Amino acid sequence: MNPDRPEKRRPEEPRPCRLCGGETALFLDLGLQWPSEPLWPEPVPPVPDRRHPLRLDACRLCGFVQIPDPLSPELIYPDAGLEMTSWKNLPQTGWQVDLLKRESPLDANLVEIGCNDGHFLAALRDAGFSRLAGIEPSRVSGPLARGKGFEVREGFATPAAAKELVEVRGKFDLAAAKHVFGHIPDLPGFFSCLDTLLTPKGKLFLEIPDFSVALAAADCSLIYEELVGHFTSDTLRFILAHFGYTILIEQKFPCNGGLIEILARRSPNPPHPPPFPAIPAALADFSGRARDYAGRLGDRLESFQSRGWPAFFFGAGMRSAALLNGFGLAPKITALLDDNPAKQGRYYPGCGLPILAPEAAAEKYGAGGKKLFLLAVSNENEEKVVQRIKRLFAGEVLCASVLGPGDREKELAGPRSGIDEEGH
Ligand SMILES: [Zn+2]
Repeated sequence: MNPDRPEKRRPEEPRPCRLCGGETALFLDLGLQWPSEPLWPEPVPPVPDRRHPLRLDACRLCGFVQIPDPLSPELIYPDAGLEMTSWKNLPQTGWQVDLLKRESPLDANLVEIGCNDGHFLAALRDAGFSRLAGIEPSRVSGPLARGKGFEVREGFATPAAAKELVEVRGKFDLAAAKHVFGHIPDLPGFFSCLDTLLTPKGKLFLEIPDFSVALAAADCSLIYEELVGHFTSDTLRFILAHFGYTILIEQKFPCNGGLIEILARRSPNPPHPPPFPAIPAALADFSGRARDYAGRLGDRLESFQSRGWPAFFFGAGMRSAALLNGFGLAPKITALLDDNPAKQGRYYPGCGLPILAPEAAAEKYGAGGKKLFLLAVSNENEEKVVQRIKRLFAGEVLCASVLGPGDREKELAGPRSGIDEEGH
């Protein structure tokens, strides 16, 4: 079924850990994969072939899970424009704004690294912050932030970019980076940039996916080319201590698949070498558990298919990539549904499955009859999606969650019913 058994392509010499320089071991190998962005204009692979080896290693010393040979950020982010922050349901934003208000005066000089379309900067401005700037590599979302009245430097957070921004805006009291940290291959370079941006006791606010949640659930939805490093609380604390940051506040949220929020402060004194974090036990059998789950899901889809239930994915985001392409479930799926107009009418990279507006899918595949919907959206958005599916599809409808951290095994055993599950 998978002639490119990825483990066979393992190079002889594993790369040292990017956090601590320690020895690494293979964690998960999904073989050659297409980048999850851009979406395809046609259902066939575009030219040139941009597939890359999606292999992850785990450090034996510090437990950090990482892509040893990541794609260059230059190939990914300047043209990225599918995922606008304003589009997302972000229930944690209010908490974040309150935290920064509590910990920084309203005239503090703030910069958001990776400010996307300026959604968070706008929330800070609404809360009364008056000195706000951003750095954003995307030529699609950056101008949207600029259109909201913010000074946004186009490009990556490099020491040179930081120097230019500081010359104009002065040193910053606080840098925020939400969903940025795990995307950075060159972490020392990022901290060097922060050294230039921040005052000696400047603060750093981070929001990152909590990989311990994915580890516990053997959930591969965070495995795609953009996330080059997967942090748990322990590895995040380790690297912050290594670069001289003291954690002031740490908070976890269950939304977006599990999040860690950290506010830290630069320490004026050189740091002591931090102790190595404990290695999570769930690292060892993650790959096997993830493959087992995907195998059982595939069997379930075949069983439904044989009884006349076509299956659809609801959610054509990057979090669908591992199941569709990495574990090869795409041939068992009819189409992907997504509410994001920028994705509709396009084709998912790798498998080439069509992405449709839910209304268009109801028209094309019929509103009646039996249909199975796999919910590839954040758990907190599922109920809203189920209601939407029920409104659009009048026949027999079953929905099952396929993203963590919800109980996917329970969903697998018995998909939640839509309108009528009699006899099934
Ligand atoms: Zn390490």
